[in-house]
Amino acid sequence: MNQDSHAPIFSKCYAFTEAAEVRASGLYPFFKPISRSEGSRVYIDGREMIMLGSNNYLGLANDPRVKKAAEVAAERYGTSCSGSRFMNGTLDLHEELEHRLARFVRKPAALCFTTGYQTNLGSLAALLGRGEHVIVDKYDHASIMDGIFLGEGTKKQVNLHRYKHNNIEDLEQVLQRIPLDAPKLIVLDGVFSMEGDIAFLPEIRKIADAYNAGIYLDEAHALGVVGDTGRGTCEHHGNDFSLCDLLMCTFSKSFGSIGGFVAGEEGVIDYIKHFARPLIFSASMPPANIAAAMKSLEIIETEPQIVHRLQHNALRMREGFTDLGFNIGTSETPIVPLIIGDNEKTFQLWKHVFERGVYVNPVISPAVPPQRALLRTSCMAIHTDEEIDTAVQIIGEEARKLDII
Ligand code: PMP
Repeated sequence: MNQDSHAPIFSKCYAFTEAAEVRASGLYPFFKPISRSEGSRVYIDGREMIMLGSNNYLGLANDPRVKKAAEVAAERYGTSCSGSRFMNGTLDLHEELEHRLARFVRKPAALCFTTGYQTNLGSLAALLGRGEHVIVDKYDHASIMDGIFLGEGTKKQVNLHRYKHNNIEDLEQVLQRIPLDAPKLIVLDGVFSMEGDIAFLPEIRKIADAYNAGIYLDEAHALGVVGDTGRGTCEHHGNDFSLCDLLMCTFSKSFGSIGGFVAGEEGVIDYIKHFARPLIFSASMPPANIAAAMKSLEIIETEPQIVHRLQHNALRMREGFTDLGFNIGTSETPIVPLIIGDNEKTFQLWKHVFERGVYVNPVISPAVPPQRALLRTSCMAIHTDEEIDTAVQIIGEEARKLDII
C-alpha cells in the first residue's frame, strides 16, 4: 500500500528508521523468538544457548510440579476468567493465593493483579491523590513511574520528587522541602532491576518516620532472591517487615508465572481494591497462572535450599566477572550488570556473545542513564557451576577482544 495514502497520524511511524538501521547492521538484539525452553538452556534460531538473561530466578517456570499445577487448574476452571475481579473474575484460587502471600510477607492482607506492571499502575494511581507527594529513587522501575503518571492523568497534580539512586542524604534533602504534614509516599525497588543492588531500607524507614512518609516497596527482583528464606529486602535487613508499609511483587520472576500482588494493612488493600482501575477494568489473572504462582510459593516456603542455590550461583557469577576485570557496579544479587557505557560496544559484545551461544540482555538509555549502557546478566538456581563458568569465560574472552576489559 502507498504510504502517502495513510492518515497523518501514522507519519511518525514511517519516519522512525532507527530500529531498521540497527537491524540492517546485524546488531539488533531485541524480540528474538525462543522456540523451546528448558530453563537454563533455550533454543534460538535452531541453536541451543545458555540462558543468562532470564528473571526465572528459581527456575520454577520449568519445574514439573509448577507446570502440573497450571494444567490441573486449567482443567478445573478453564483457560480464562473472562472478567474483572470486581465481577465474575474472582476465583476461590485468587483468594487462597492472596491469603498465602500475605502470610509469606508478614502483612495482614494482599491483592492480586493480572501483571506486575498493572500492580504498580493500579496501586499507585489509586493511592496518590491530588496535591499529595510521591518521592521516587531515580532508578525506580518504569511501571512505578507509569502508575504515578496514571494517577496524575486521572486525578491531576500529584507532586513528584526524585532522589539520587540509593542516596539517603539526597532523600532527606528532598523530604525537607515538603511540608511535614503533607501526605507523602516513598516508592522504591527493594532490588534494583538493572543494577542488582539492594535498597538501604532501614535508613529509609528512619527518615520516612521522621518526615511522616509511607513506604511502598517493589520486591519484583527480591522475593525468592534475597533473604535467607527468600522473603526479600525486609528479611535481608534483619527480618523486619515493618520496614515497608506496602510491598508489591510480580509472579513473572521467582514465581514462574505472570501476575502480581500488593500487600499491606487491610484498610489500605481494601481501598486499592475499590479504586485501582487496572484491577477493575481488566480481566483477572487466569487460573493456570494463579495455580503456578501458588505452587511456586509452596516450593519456596518448603525448599529454601533453592534460594540458597541461587545465592551461591549469584556469588560465583559476580566473583567470576569481577576477577576478569568487569565493572559490575554495586550488584549484590543474581542481577549482574556489566557496565560498558557506549551503546555500540554494548551491542557488539552482545552479538559476539550471542554467536557463541550465551543469551544476555543489552540495556541502553532510557532503561539506564545515557552513557551507562550495560549487558544485564542474570543467573538462576538451576544453572550448574559449569554453566556459570562457561558463560562467564565466553563473555570475558569476547570483551577482551573488544577492549572492554
Ligand atoms: N517492577 C519491577 C522492578 C520490574 O522489574 C518489573 C518487570 N521487569 C515489574 C515491576 C513489572 O512486572 P511484570 O513484568 O511481571 O508485569
